[in-house]
Amino acid sequence: MTYFYITAIGAVDPAAIKVASATIETTFGFRPLQFGPLAMPPDAFDKVRNQFSSVAMLKELVARAPADCLRLFALTEKDLFIPMLTFLFGQAQLGGRVALVSLARLRQEFYGMPGNDPLLAVRMAKETLHEVGHTFNLLHCTDAGCAMALSTGIRALDAKHAAFCPACETLLKETLAEFEMEKTA
Ligand SMILES: [Zn+2]
Ligand SMILES: [Zn+2]
Repeated sequence: MTYFYITAIGAVDPAAIKVASATIETTFGFRPLQFGPLAMPPDAFDKVRNQFSSVAMLKELVARAPADCLRLFALTEKDLFIPMLTFLFGQAQLGGRVALVSLARLRQEFYGMPGNDPLLAVRMAKETLHEVGHTFNLLHCTDAGCAMALSTGIRALDAKHAAFCPACETLLKETLAEFEMEKTA
């Protein structure tokens, strides 16, 4: 038996964990078990960029994932980067076990505006679908309204729906059906 785990890297608002858990249960059919929180890996912080390495955090998740882990999904409040990009909303292993979403740029406060919890929840749902979708083999989608569309900024993210397009939904169902068969095999 394997489990879908959810965790935080560093301090994360518990309300955010609840929103992400509900999104995962509704869309993917797994009720996430809480795990951790995990400490920030010491090598994740980049002083020059004043950001945190997404790759260092994914490595930490791979290292810490329990043996009975189907998926380990993590939230962080820290702003993420990879060397070739200014920032990332999140990152995941394609077809792998770990995925990560940062709340930093999903918060209106990042853009100098007052906090907006309902908007934050919708943005989180979109990013959670996107990154967990990658772990179930979904690739970037050309439908700009699909949760699997690549978002390079907050406007593109806000233009997406918190749902998969019919094509991605079909692919996801096929992948999830294979998991069901493994369970009963
Ligand atoms: Zn992506
Ligand atoms: Zn799609």
